[in-house]
Amino acid sequence: MNTNLTTERPTFVTHLECSWTGEIYEADQPHNLSRAGKPLLVRYDLDGVRAALSKETVAARPNDLWRWRELLPVRRVADIISLGEVATPLIPLTRSLQDLGGGEVLVKDEGRLPTGSFKARGLVMAVSMAKAFGLKHLAMPSNGNAGAALAAYASRAGIRATVCCPEDTPEINLSEIALQGGAVYRVNGLIDDCGKLVGQGREVTGWFDVSTLKEPYRIEGKKTMGLELAEQLGWELPDVIFYPTGGGTGLIGMWKAFAELEAIGFIGSKRPRMVAVQAAGCAPMVRAFEAGDEAAIRWEGAHTIASGIRVPQAVGDFLILRAVRDSGGFAIAVSDEAIMAAVESVARADGLLLCPEGGATMAAYKQALADGRVRKDERAVLFNCATGLKYPMPPVHASLDRTKPINFAGLSEAD
Ligand SMILES: *Cc1c(COP(=O)(O)O)cnc(C)c1O
Repeated sequence: MNTNLTTERPTFVTHLECSWTGEIYEADQPHNLSRAGKPLLVRYDLDGVRAALSKETVAARPNDLWRWRELLPVRRVADIISLGEVATPLIPLTRSLQDLGGGEVLVKDEGRLPTGSFKARGLVMAVSMAKAFGLKHLAMPSNGNAGAALAAYASRAGIRATVCCPEDTPEINLSEIALQGGAVYRVNGLIDDCGKLVGQGREVTGWFDVSTLKEPYRIEGKKTMGLELAEQLGWELPDVIFYPTGGGTGLIGMWKAFAELEAIGFIGSKRPRMVAVQAAGCAPMVRAFEAGDEAAIRWEGAHTIASGIRVPQAVGDFLILRAVRDSGGFAIAVSDEAIMAAVESVARADGLLLCPEGGATMAAYKQALADGRVRKDERAVLFNCATGLKYPMPPVHASLDRTKPINFAGLSEAD
């Protein structure tokens, strides 16, 4: 029995706050964007958390996302919808970096989470809160993984889920959404076009919009990546974090987590440089970062094999750019060719099957090492946000005919 899921614990949410104007919103009721049209952030009584929680208390609990309860918004265990949100491992890369002579590189392998991606962290929180609020129908645009996580948790909670996906979303994502009880539609457009449909349908259907950052609790779930990482590294954050950035929820969430950890006395003021990794075919944050802009305009004609980061426009653009700049980090774009090469090299040399978005972080690390933005003596963490098994892989043509003599000596090592 997982006591995290059965033990009532004190919670510390005080209110929500507009990330743009600071305007205050009441907790414990459903919210979307603020009146200013910006994301709402959940605020806690951090002095209270500081008094209630020690590192030892956390360490003594079962090792999953719910061990962080005092820093999470769900008030009652009865509302927790769990599918086993395990703490994900940090896998050191060794052989795939040999030729580069890079420093310590750890992959946070988020593919181990329910539904095979870190979208589970955000959606387990959003759906648990939706259950607490008595919401009956949730909807979102998705490039695949978020929709799958929504469908899974919503079904488990007895809540309806509707998902709009770009028409070229990987087939397996559409199937898993449908099989897990979500209504899923292909839309002839990109994810922000899908988001507009979700907004338009609201009035007639009564569904609640759980789009990235248009709903305040997904970021609280994704924040646990930062909490978990700090604990795993002995409360010493790494020098640099490479994060594949679409809507940016995870990057913004981790940045928030670090601030909260410092406020409760678990870490000091040292922060990693946050690196927003994007695909060359869809790099609105990189363009805005390099131009010195505070916000990012829509990227037209977005295309990349890394569908999870094919997000032409992000409502949290200013929060991503602020975190990247405040941390002394940067935004970097990598080509699809570099992404594929990185996936292949890590799979072959280190036996770790990255998703394309994870491959993008490896490609970006290599690029940054080469241009001096990351040094060899630095500890870097790369985020692999989904299991590589969800994505198309190169076909295999080799076969053996057991009815004929086989030239075993002529078998090649790996084609
Ligand atoms: C959603 C997703 C991302 C981007 O995450 P954000 O926090 O929304 O920027 C990256 N990789 C994969 C595999 C994803 O599913």
